[in-house]
Amino acid sequence: MNSNRKVSTFVVCGAAILALGSALAMVRAEDAAKAEIHGILVANLDRSVKPGDDFYLYANGDWIRRTEIPPDRARIGVFTKLDEVSSRRTADLIEEAAKSNAPAGSGAKKIADLYNSYMDEAGIEAKGLEPLKPHLDAIAAIKDKRELSYALGQSLRADVDALNNTNFHTANLFGLWVAPGFNDSDHYAAYLLEGGLELPDREYYLADSEHMKKVRSAYETHVSAMLKLAGFSDTDARAKRILELEHAIAEKHRSLAENEDIHKANNTWSQADFTSHAPGLEWAEFFRGAGLTNQASFIVWQPEAFTGESTLVASVPLGTWKDWLAYHEIEAGAGLSKAIADERFAFFGTTLTGAQQQMPRWRRAVGIVNVFLGDEVGRIYAQRYFPPEAKLRAQAMVSNLIEAFRKRIDALSWMDPATKAEAKAKLATLYVGVGYPETFKDYSGYEVRADDIFGNVWRGRMFDYKQDLAKLGSPVDRKAWSMTPQTVNAVNLPLQNALNFPAAILQPPFYDPQAPDAVNYGAIGSVIGHEISHTFDTEGSAFDSKGRLRNWWTDADLRHFEDATARLAAQYDTYKPFPDISVNGKQTLAENIADVAGISAAYDGYHAALGGKAAPEQDGFNGDQQFFIAFGQNWGSKSREAAQRQQVMTDPHAPAQYRADTVRNIDAWYPAFHVQPGEKLYLAPADRVRIW
Ligand SMILES: [Zn+2]
Repeated sequence: MNSNRKVSTFVVCGAAILALGSALAMVRAEDAAKAEIHGILVANLDRSVKPGDDFYLYANGDWIRRTEIPPDRARIGVFTKLDEVSSRRTADLIEEAAKSNAPAGSGAKKIADLYNSYMDEAGIEAKGLEPLKPHLDAIAAIKDKRELSYALGQSLRADVDALNNTNFHTANLFGLWVAPGFNDSDHYAAYLLEGGLELPDREYYLADSEHMKKVRSAYETHVSAMLKLAGFSDTDARAKRILELEHAIAEKHRSLAENEDIHKANNTWSQADFTSHAPGLEWAEFFRGAGLTNQASFIVWQPEAFTGESTLVASVPLGTWKDWLAYHEIEAGAGLSKAIADERFAFFGTTLTGAQQQMPRWRRAVGIVNVFLGDEVGRIYAQRYFPPEAKLRAQAMVSNLIEAFRKRIDALSWMDPATKAEAKAKLATLYVGVGYPETFKDYSGYEVRADDIFGNVWRGRMFDYKQDLAKLGSPVDRKAWSMTPQTVNAVNLPLQNALNFPAAILQPPFYDPQAPDAVNYGAIGSVIGHEISHTFDTEGSAFDSKGRLRNWWTDADLRHFEDATARLAAQYDTYKPFPDISVNGKQTLAENIADVAGISAAYDGYHAALGGKAAPEQDGFNGDQQFFIAFGQNWGSKSREAAQRQQVMTDPHAPAQYRADTVRNIDAWYPAFHVQPGEKLYLAPADRVRIW
């Protein structure tokens, strides 16, 4: 599944990354007290909980009790705290750039100008809606469906990613993803994905629950308020029609679980096919608007959504489409007035995630710089914070984990030798990027002005889009990264058979050179194992060692794999974070497979690293106990209810507590904590899911 082949969506791109605000001082003081601890965080344990009843609470209960979610956050956890560290460092780099009087056109100057343009609140207020006006005027001037088709094409951006950072959401009618082709992994292909919704997922429009009905009603009020702020009249009626249109679009969309099924996604359409398979939109105009007239064919991820959405272009009145376009343009416009930013936050922040206040402005500015100049910042970040010796040590750990994985494959009794050989070939050709990419993106074509945040963001999206268009048809760079070094995350790129481990995740508490192996393997080792195993999850296993979509499994092996993974999906289906909502075992399957496989490989890697020597104890905990607790502490977090509900519906990762509790599938966890039948997480040996 595609799944976010990221290890976590705690941190998502850009604007969502943000601050601890006033609680920061408290958290930092706490960290300072712990700075001398190079091991598991014993003070975070709740020893009143039996590990076999709730391992997540056992590993994190005391921390959960004494931690409050800062008002500007929807959740807090290890990932958000490390993100805080990374953002602070990034902010320092940006400040230095701003002070350096860098020459015009240089990277440092662009960083400074982009940051300052976002911080220039007085200038932004003085301009008001002026930057948006030409865009709204252009929409108002659309005369017919032909011009509408062209405008919809003009709005296309490279803002979705089906398999790497896994993002199936764009508010534009469709989204472009440029990546190695399913059928020719040596060259970049154009993937088109469904879109058109402002809310995070189709379920927000279609689900029947009371909670979702309230969200929809709040959304309609929000749409009306945004239109009013932008100077429209009769906004309630317009908002109602916009909602009806988005509801109709949502009905054409695939569910997230279906989107993750790549075998339903490999549909090649020529330009002529769009006209015959999806009448309604004037496709030649759409492609002309998108600058794609010369692109002969596309991979259409959700053909029925293209057919359905195109039908709506024909059947829904032009006026409604123009209102929809105008409303989406207002939402997309960064750096408009404070009134618009506040209204946006009230809905997308507070209603959808529960966050009580906006991140401090500098935080949001850092987020913007990371989105549009991420590699420029990352180049400096890596130089400063990721020395060559850190890279060497992390690479050695990755090699150990790959070797552990290779041995596990060799030892699988159920797998045919031919399938094993191909699996090992995939491991042998895996490109593992550690810390930072070999080459950084060149921003010389991106124009940044110190007094124009609206234009900077608009041009930034267009710059990224044009860079991606330029790649179409050219040879694939398997060493290209899809995350910046300052991102606290890790990712598997199945079409490139590659992994990225950014510098920002290779630091304490995930990775601490002074901590014992038990802790490093339990924490970062399980993350590395998680990413390696995506190579062999439900989707990863569909690609061969060259990234080609090809079935290299024998039928019997595939049946065994599907049987084991179905049992894991059923295990997660039983988890209920709220009485009215269950984890979706299918939607989260690839991530759950990766967690089980990751911790299994990390455990082997840990014992290999010990080389038969006894592990040092920490506070009375033996090596295996430290290993599992370190893993459980990766997932220590607190979420607001709205954010947690959004995650269950839209995220390929299960909520954190169930990720920690997956230790119940690992045999070695039972003796480590004397887990007995009758305890809540206990599984009989036959019921434990072993995949790799
Ligand atoms: Zn993952």
